[in-house]
Amino acid sequence: MARNILVVGELVEGALSPTTAELLGQSTRLVDGGSVAVALLGSGASGAASAAFEAGADKAFTNDDAGYDQYNSDQWVNAVEAALDGVDAVLVAQSSVGRDMAPRLAARQNTAAAMDCINVTDDGGTLKVTRPAYGGNALAEYSFAASPAVATVRAKAFEAIEARGGASGETVELPAAGESRTTIQGRELAEATGLSITEAPVVVSGGRGLGSEEGFQQLEALATAFGTSRAAVGASRAACDLGWYPVSQQVGLTGKVVTPDLYVAVAISGASQHMAGCSGAKMIIAINKDPDANIFQNSKYGIVGDYKAVLPALIEAVKAAS
Ligand SMILES: Cc1cc2nc3c(=O)[nH]c(=O)nc-3n(C[C@H](O)[C@H](O)[C@H](O)COP(=O)(O)OP(=O)(O)OC[C@H]3O[C@@H](n4cnc5c(N)ncnc54)[C@H](O)[C@@H]3O)c2cc1C
Repeated sequence: MARNILVVGELVEGALSPTTAELLGQSTRLVDGGSVAVALLGSGASGAASAAFEAGADKAFTNDDAGYDQYNSDQWVNAVEAALDGVDAVLVAQSSVGRDMAPRLAARQNTAAAMDCINVTDDGGTLKVTRPAYGGNALAEYSFAASPAVATVRAKAFEAIEARGGASGETVELPAAGESRTTIQGRELAEATGLSITEAPVVVSGGRGLGSEEGFQQLEALATAFGTSRAAVGASRAACDLGWYPVSQQVGLTGKVVTPDLYVAVAISGASQHMAGCSGAKMIIAINKDPDANIFQNSKYGIVGDYKAVLPALIEAVKAAS
């Protein structure tokens, strides 16, 4: 059944975010003769429309007003509502923007939002979403009884399509940001360097078993061996609570959800709250000195041993293979 999908895009320094391209890619697989639109807001929005067309959009709703640069619920929801005519489904990244905006948009539209989805499929003409439940120990499937369906989707849940070089589409200007009932007093950037753990194809994470802050230096060496453009370092909540690594790098229920191709869990026990943040990884490799550690239940490969002995050899092996 033909359906029209609107992707609420996000810009990173004026360029289309990778997750926006992934959502556009999946939308092209779901429209079945309908259309794919994208909403882009803030500085660089109209310039990024061409990348959105190459990534699968037929139509771009844009406004370059710098008033949109910092996400503000009122302004963004108003803008997206202006792009909803004839839209059957709205897809947003499971980002800080999506987490805030999707429920507000759904409430305004008297419809429903499915949060933190890992899949959006066509089930015989009905849109179906899959999302983790019970801290990632089960998967729940939902369909929508109201329209437009609103869903937030994890990064890397889908593949972007191969860029349609030179593709073009219709551009429609959205209203400027306008007044808001919310005033943003300031913005504090989370302490983080290099690749984001939500975008990195390889995430190397450490836990309390590292024993100290210094243990993370070895994890950083492993990430560097994989390549700084491919790997990022994460941490369990226990390690972050101890102040060994920045909270911005925490993986889990109350941290970030990561879906890398490879997740290396070092000295992490594998508590359900941690697994909620990494169970979507395509492959998990665990290093733990306890052969009964829960993390091994969730790992494709496990190395039983002291990380201090295992990591130097692993770093050399990765360097040799890179
Ligand atoms: C509401 C709630 C939300 C939570 N949210 C999160 C979250 O977002 N993220 C999160 O991570 N946790 C979260 N937690 C905490 C979670 O329950 C666990 O307490 C936490 O994940 C444990 O962290 P850990 O695995 O690093 O530490 P531990 O459970 O202490 O495990 C350390 C592991 O290291 C191994 N080890 C020790 N020494 C070595 C060595 N030398 N070499 C190799 N292995 C070694 C041990 O065998 C052990 O398995 C949450 C808890 C609650 C209640």
